[in-house]
Amino acid sequence: MKKTLYFRIILAYILFGLFGFIAVATVVSRLTTEYCIRDKARMLYGEASRISDTYALQLYRSKIKLEDVQAQMEALSSYMDTEIWILNPSGRMVVNSRMAPDPGQETYVEDFDSTIIAGNYYTIGRFFNSFDEEVLSVIAPITNDFKIRGYVAIHLPMSRIQTDADNMLNLSYMLLVILLVLSLIILFFFTEYVYRPLRRIIAAAEQYALGNMHYHIPVESEDELGYLSASLGYMADTIARSEDDQKKFIANISHDFRSPLTSMRGFLEAMLDGTIPPERFSHYLEVVLGETERLTKLTNGLLTLNNLNTGGILLQRTDFDINAVIRSVAASFEQTCRAKKIHIRLVLTGKILFVNADLEKIQQVLYNLVDNALKFSHEDSEITIDTTEKGDTVFISVRDSGIGIPKEDQKLIWDRFYKTDLSRGKDKKGTGLGLSIVREIIRAHDENINMVSTEGVGSTFTFTLRRSEKNDALSSLGEPEVDVRE
Ligand code: ADP
Repeated sequence: MKKTLYFRIILAYILFGLFGFIAVATVVSRLTTEYCIRDKARMLYGEASRISDTYALQLYRSKIKLEDVQAQMEALSSYMDTEIWILNPSGRMVVNSRMAPDPGQETYVEDFDSTIIAGNYYTIGRFFNSFDEEVLSVIAPITNDFKIRGYVAIHLPMSRIQTDADNMLNLSYMLLVILLVLSLIILFFFTEYVYRPLRRIIAAAEQYALGNMHYHIPVESEDELGYLSASLGYMADTIARSEDDQKKFIANISHDFRSPLTSMRGFLEAMLDGTIPPERFSHYLEVVLGETERLTKLTNGLLTLNNLNTGGILLQRTDFDINAVIRSVAASFEQTCRAKKIHIRLVLTGKILFVNADLEKIQQVLYNLVDNALKFSHEDSEITIDTTEKGDTVFISVRDSGIGIPKEDQKLIWDRFYKTDLSRGKDKKGTGLGLSIVREIIRAHDENINMVSTEGVGSTFTFTLRRSEKNDALSSLGEPEVDVRE
């Protein structure tokens, strides 16, 4: 049998019962008998002393008749269920409560020796072979004028004491049985409410270990075990979900890597087998270069996302001027703006507006948002970036009047690799990772980002940052509008 928790508990229970019975049968039994003997002996000795001080003494002083004492002793002994003797120092029977001594014939207790009790006040045995069975005997001396005139002996059969002790012992056995029954009931409750649910939780954990993450744990009690099974179930759900995400993620990556590789391979093969004539090589090599750029972008995006996701992002917070960052990001798109005839309008609060954040990461957020705005804007249009302050928060918005995002896609654009059908024509090189990166960075700052968009009208992405206390030290010069254009 496996050494399970339950096995140990059952074993402990059996041992407890066994030791309980052995203890009652040996130690408790002996102690009870000893207690009964001592108790009876004390009681009998008290009685014997009383008799020696009263009836026996009066008898020796001839103040009371022998017959009267005999009658008294007979009554007393039948009341106490004992045998009472009055002996003279040599062991001659003067009074015997069982039967009156024959006056014509002297009866002796042979070899009587009062020292038999040897410093004790009782002795156990046949009392100088006077009895057929073992008796408990107490002897009290009768003293008169500092001389021992005789003895009062009271005898009680040991079988009587044993019966009393057995009765008391039975009580102990009964208590033990009650205790065992009670602990059996506790064991039953333990089995039902702790052991069985625990087994079910273990079975579930084994299922999870085998990869069956959709296994339901049938433990729904409202206690620690119920809580444990709910937590385990939740953990399994999370793992299952993240496994699904992982699979989807890998499928997406494979797809996104495969398509540029396939097209590159197609062009290169066509160049090698002569399908593409050498004079067209430069054109197709540029296409291939474009595809490698896309692959590089994809790899970089994946690396960034991976860094953002693993173990939280370590932000290097500093106080910097967000207006200056916006200006430099806008300036870096000058070429594209010129090519698409797009105007970036900056509506910035104050000349300088300090925020507390990770400069490089916020630069990346702005870069991704402006890049998207440009990609999905029509030619000859305008993109507006503005900053506003509200209390301790700075709001930064990037607004375009481009293709917009269909309502059904608006929740999904934050997912990795998600691209709207609408945008595919406009941006063939997109990886669908940009907004996921943006969201992770803003989340790491404990800030918010949201988007309002209308299909065919345009989109506005707004995120918040923590306003730096440095602003209060500097006097801000109002410069509401700054245009950045070539
Ligand atoms: P990508 O690198 O492909 O731009 P993103 O994660 O940045 O990936 O964007 C995901 C998708 O969200 C885009 O492919 C596009 O469909 C949509 N999108 C993002 N920004 C805009 C925008 N300003 N206007 C319209 N669609 C947008």
